Amino acid sequence: MSGIDDIPLATRHATKGVPSLSKRLFFGILIVALAGIVTTAAALTGAFHSSIEQDAESDLRAETQTIAGMLNGLPEQTQIDVLQNQVSFDTRFTLVAHDGSVLYDSEASQGAMLENHLDRPEIQEAFETGLCTTRRYSETLETYTIYAAQPLENGSVIRLAETRGSVFGVFERDLLVPLSVILLLAAVSVFALSRLLAKRVTKPFDQIDLEHPLDNPPYCEAIPLLARIDAQQTTLQNQNRQLSKAESMRRDFSANVSHEMKTPLQVISGYAELMKSGVVPEEDMVRFSAIIHSEAQSMRALIDDVLTLSRLDADAIRQGDFSPVDLGALTKKTSARLEKLADDCSVCLMLDVEHVVMQGDEALLGQMIHNLIENAIRYNRPQGYVWVTVRKRHPNNDSPHAEIEIRDTGIGIPQKSINKIFERFYRVEKSRSKKTGGTGLGLAIAKHAALLHNGTITVESASEGSRFTVYLPL
Ligand code: ADP
Repeated sequence: MSGIDDIPLATRHATKGVPSLSKRLFFGILIVALAGIVTTAAALTGAFHSSIEQDAESDLRAETQTIAGMLNGLPEQTQIDVLQNQVSFDTRFTLVAHDGSVLYDSEASQGAMLENHLDRPEIQEAFETGLCTTRRYSETLETYTIYAAQPLENGSVIRLAETRGSVFGVFERDLLVPLSVILLLAAVSVFALSRLLAKRVTKPFDQIDLEHPLDNPPYCEAIPLLARIDAQQTTLQNQNRQLSKAESMRRDFSANVSHEMKTPLQVISGYAELMKSGVVPEEDMVRFSAIIHSEAQSMRALIDDVLTLSRLDADAIRQGDFSPVDLGALTKKTSARLEKLADDCSVCLMLDVEHVVMQGDEALLGQMIHNLIENAIRYNRPQGYVWVTVRKRHPNNDSPHAEIEIRDTGIGIPQKSINKIFERFYRVEKSRSKKTGGTGLGLAIAKHAALLHNGTITVESASEGSRFTVYLPL
C-alpha cells in the first residue's frame, strides 16, 4: 500500500467518502481523553471540596466552643461587647436569648429589629442537645452556610455562621480556566498522537508483498483479507497461465493450418499452370485434372475440420441446445456413407448396434463416429475388418452410459504415440495420413465432441489392431 499521493486520481475520486483512520483515532482518543480528564477533575474537586468543608465545620465548631467559654459568666451587655470586638470577615456572630429574640448579630445594622430565631434548627438543637452544627443551602445564591451553636450558662445561645461557596462555584472559580487549558492541550496532543498512531498502524500494510500476501502478515486481523487476496492471486496466475497456453495453442494452430494449406495449393497452382500453358499432352489432361481435384478435396476437408474446431473453440455448440439423438441409427447412417471407402480399401465393416437415445448435438456426434470409423478403415490392412458396436451400459455402481466401440485389424498405433494422437495435426505416419486424405484433425474433433457431451474416448492398440471406445453418460 502506498501513500495517498501515489494513488491514481481516478481511484482517489472513486474512494471519496471512505472513512479516515486518523480521524477515527483522533475522535476516539479525544473523547476518551476528555472524558477521563473531566471525570478525574470532577472527582478530585468533589473530594477536595468535601475535605475542606469538613475542616471548616470543625474549625467553626471549635471557635464556637472558645467564644462560648469566653462569654460564660459574663453579664449580657458584656457578652455583646465581647462579640462586637471580634474581628472576622467570614464569620457571623449571633447571640440569641432563650426566648429566641436576637440580642446581637454581627451582620445586622445597629438598632435594626431582627426576627425571632427560635425556629432556626441550629438554635432548637442547641437548646435540646448542646453544641451542634448544621448547614443550609441557598439555591438562589448557590451558596450554603454552616452554623455552629452552643447554649451559654445564662440560657442564651451563641451562634457562629460561615457562608461557603458550593462545589460548582469552586469549580467555576478555581478550575474552569486551568481545566480548559488542559483540555486544549489534550486536544492538540491527541491530534498529533492520532496521526502518529494512524501512520504506525498503516505502515505495515505498505510492506505487504502482494505477490505472496500470506508470507508476512502485518496483523493477525489482516489474515482473512490477505487470504482472499492470495486466493485471487492464485486464480489470476492460473487464468494467465491458461490464457497464454491458449494463445500459444491458437498461434501454433494458425501456423499449422497455413502450412497444411500451402502444399495442396502449390500442387493445384503448379498443375493448373502447366495445363494453362498448353504443354500438357492430351492423354495427361485427365490425370492432371484428377490430381487437382483430389488436392482441392483435401483442402475442402481441411477447411471443414478447421471450421468445426473453431466452432467448438468458440463454444458455438452448447449443451443447452442439445436434442435427443439415437446413437444406433446415427451410427448406421454414418457407416452407410463409409461403405464405399471400405470397399475401396477392401475392408469389411461389421455393425452391431442398439437403440440408445441421448441428449446431444447430432451433427457433432455424427462427425465423431464418422472420423473414428473412417480412421479404422484408412489405417487398416487389405481384407481387414472393422467392428462397430453401440450399446447401453448399466454398470453396478455407475450411472448408465452409451458405449460406442470401433475395433479394427489395422496397423495399430505405437505406444509412444498413443497419448499424442488426439493432438491437432499429430500423425503417426504423415505420408499415409495424407495419401488417404487425412487432415490430422479427425481425432481432435472426436475428443472435443466427446468432452462436450461429458464423455471420454479411450484407445487400446497393438500390432494386430486398435480399439477406440467412447463413453457417453446418458
Ligand atoms: P488423420 O487425419 O491423420 O487420420 P486423426 O486425428 O484422425 O488424423 O488421427 C491422428 C493419427 O492417429 C493418424 O494420423 C494416425 O496415424 C493415427 N490413427 C488414428 N486412428 C487410427 C487407427 N484406427 N489405427 C491406426 N492409427 C490410427
